[in-house]
Amino acid sequence: MAIATINPTTGETLKTFEPLSEHELDERLALASVEFTTYRTTDFKQRTAWMQSAADLLESEQEQVARMMTTEMGKTLVEARSEVAKCVKGMRFYADHAEAFLADEPADAPAVGARRAYARYQPLGPVLAVMPWNFPLWQAMRFAAPALMAGNVGLLKHASNVPQTALYLGELFARAGFPPGCFQTLLIGSDQVERVLRDPRVVAATLTGSEPAGRSVAAIAGSEVKTTVLELGGSDPYVVMPSADLDGAVATAVTARVQNNGQSCIAAKRFIVHADVYEDFTDRFVARIEALRVGDPVDESTNVGPLATEQGRDDLEMLVTDAVVRGARVLCGGFTPDRPGWFYQPTVITDITPEMKIFKEEAFGPVASLYRVENIDEALALANATDFGLGSNAWTTDESEQERFVTDLEAGIVTVNGMVVSYPELPFGGIKNSGYGRELSAHGIREFCNLKAVWIS
Ligand code: NAP
Repeated sequence: MAIATINPTTGETLKTFEPLSEHELDERLALASVEFTTYRTTDFKQRTAWMQSAADLLESEQEQVARMMTTEMGKTLVEARSEVAKCVKGMRFYADHAEAFLADEPADAPAVGARRAYARYQPLGPVLAVMPWNFPLWQAMRFAAPALMAGNVGLLKHASNVPQTALYLGELFARAGFPPGCFQTLLIGSDQVERVLRDPRVVAATLTGSEPAGRSVAAIAGSEVKTTVLELGGSDPYVVMPSADLDGAVATAVTARVQNNGQSCIAAKRFIVHADVYEDFTDRFVARIEALRVGDPVDESTNVGPLATEQGRDDLEMLVTDAVVRGARVLCGGFTPDRPGWFYQPTVITDITPEMKIFKEEAFGPVASLYRVENIDEALALANATDFGLGSNAWTTDESEQERFVTDLEAGIVTVNGMVVSYPELPFGGIKNSGYGRELSAHGIREFCNLKAVWIS
């Protein structure tokens, strides 16, 4: 894919970029490697000051950064501003807590015949981050903030359609005072990722993106015995039981599906509704989806903007067409609006059967799949009938049902009477084909550390 800013609202190419030459790439890897030898010795007080100053800078540039993201990938400006604010919060969270998260962990010294015994977290070195376009600032920041606070140095290979956001990130940390080389953006295509992964100066990698990309990065890193974290796709279930607050369940369902123009790994994609409330839920849900305003993402009254890429829009359209040809029923939407840009009308479909692609594949856009079930066992079986295992949502006020969902949903995240959201305070990640490892919280910052066992007699 060419490295370029193409406005999804118009389809117009605004700016193109040349990928780094082999020589330029080598220079950046060398800088990262050299910088790590001194950066790793900086103390938490210093890193905290730099991270706080980066957070202040980003906060002061919120509007400019939000507009840049909207131009590059089409998210609504309102949501883009929230994404910036979320990043600022995440940066301050790690600035405030990294030292405690990485404090030495005392062990039972007498039990191992030592005078002192403990575990110490130490940084690993230059880490490659391969990132997607859908939350172009947040996805990269939830890697960068903990990595830098832990004393690692970062190399960002961002998605090819968000180069300006990628370059901004590279400059932000340097402008805030981090030494040059602590965090660098590598403008490279996905075909150059293997070369970077195999470079001995790069010690680990994290990838947020699609399953095929994750499999490729993990296989290459595995053959080099380098650690990886994978945050891949999701097809999150959203179960509604009879005792649920239906007003809340319906309103939240709409947000959970169409947030970020439907392009979120943790968007609710499969709505599994108990027969007792199915008709009521469906009528209200469809009415709200139909009422969404589709349009220019810069317009503050717009609810749903374009998809980020033409390919993404075409893939979504094909998923719906495949289902309809095989007998699915469209309750609203189900078409590409006749206008420039890569829009897709918010859609609800039902009568979905396992042979339809949408039963198994992730619908990465504003298309909701609706299922009717008779009881909690059927709901859980259907919710778990997916190769993904990222987030999950359940609506019920019955405490024994809540416990069943928490225990039996096969996912990295269970949200009861709400929608899945990532928080700096909670671990984030999936199981099954949604990946492995965790980001955020204390668990996220420890992923790229050497946990050294220390025994002193
Ligand atoms: P993608 O095609 O996998 O792209 C993501 C990143 O991987 C980009 O930087 C891309 O570079 C790179 N890439 C693509 N193929 C690669 C390969 N074979 N080897 C190395 N790097 C490769 O994903 P996308 O379609 O843009 O993003 C949407 C997917 O990401 C969805 O499945 C979504 O659910 C998932 N996602 C997951 C999370 C999570 O936290 N679990 C969060 C957000 C998104 P180029 O742009 O240069 O191709």
